[in-house]
Amino acid sequence: MKMESKILGILGGGQLGRMSALAAAPLGISTHIYCPEENCPASLVTDRFTMAKYEDESDLKAFADSVDVISYEFENIPLETIRFLQKYKPVYPDDRLLEVSQNRLKEKQFLNDIGIQTAPWAPAYKAQDIDEVMARWGAEKCIIKTARFGYDGKGQIKHSVSDNSSKSWAKLSTEEAVIEGIIDFAYEVSAIIARDTFGKSAVFPVALNNHKNHILSETVVPAPIPDQLAVQARHMVETIADKIGLVGVLALELFVTKDGQIVANEIAPRTHNSGHWTMDACNVSQFEQHVRAVCGLPVRQPQQHSGVTMVNLIGDDVKDLPRYYAMDNACIHLYGKTEVREGRKMGHVNLLKKL
Ligand code: AMP
Repeated sequence: MKMESKILGILGGGQLGRMSALAAAPLGISTHIYCPEENCPASLVTDRFTMAKYEDESDLKAFADSVDVISYEFENIPLETIRFLQKYKPVYPDDRLLEVSQNRLKEKQFLNDIGIQTAPWAPAYKAQDIDEVMARWGAEKCIIKTARFGYDGKGQIKHSVSDNSSKSWAKLSTEEAVIEGIIDFAYEVSAIIARDTFGKSAVFPVALNNHKNHILSETVVPAPIPDQLAVQARHMVETIADKIGLVGVLALELFVTKDGQIVANEIAPRTHNSGHWTMDACNVSQFEQHVRAVCGLPVRQPQQHSGVTMVNLIGDDVKDLPRYYAMDNACIHLYGKTEVREGRKMGHVNLLKKL
């Protein structure tokens, strides 16, 4: 008798692809990573690796032929690449979710259409739109974000009425942006859901996220927030997953306002940095859920078994490693990046405690 084993193709070779490949192995699933950069974190742990461009149709076709199912580990994969691959093999999550999460204007519209509250927002296509929106809102300040390709605070600026809108617009160097009202938040949280091909979904406990220089620095789970807010956050991701027919993992970043409201900020159609705690403090990790969901296996119901603080190792933070190696409760995950750069995510540590 021969065991049937699936091959999962992943577009993107960063740490999220790496941790998905590592989670696939114990399930008997092998991985094929497709990424334009050599020596990327995922290439070091995968069964097969193709270094090729996302635009190269013959390499993409060969990749599709070599796998059973395809997923991706970051949202800036060109939509055309996903649509091309979908002709040959199932791609999860599918292009509809990717299209929404690649463009902040479409994302906000989608969220509002399904009844999920966001910061007040308006589209901008030129500098005058900024003045017009600020006047209409009677706002002193706003945040302007490029509609596409923003992450970790990149592609966004704060703007005040006293600032020159042409200068602000020029700084963004974009043709399409979203103007957002500033949310006076008490804290930022996130909710992560996995949904399988059978339509069953599983939500992880809500996480509290602290940022430094716009980059996630620490996640605490369970988030010390009132139960009723956690229920609302959970309901929001479930609504998104059901409306979009999610297969895979999706994260929703949220603000909790000082007056106790919960407001959606951003969707990530993939595993998320704020879910790394699940690798050591939960019966199932977000990466295992992702692999299960896209490979046609049922997702598991998450059960957190330890309290946890996930600490990102960013740039020079790796100098703290000797301290973490000496701690019994520190679970270390490095991403195989040899060059330390400012702002670069090098790894993370899950610090466990009693729940
Ligand atoms: P984003 O790229 O949308 O995830 O934003 C990066 C960070 O900027 C968030 O994690 C918040 O700390 C902050 N931020 C983004 N949008 C807003 C907003 N509308 N009001 C207040 N802070 C925001």
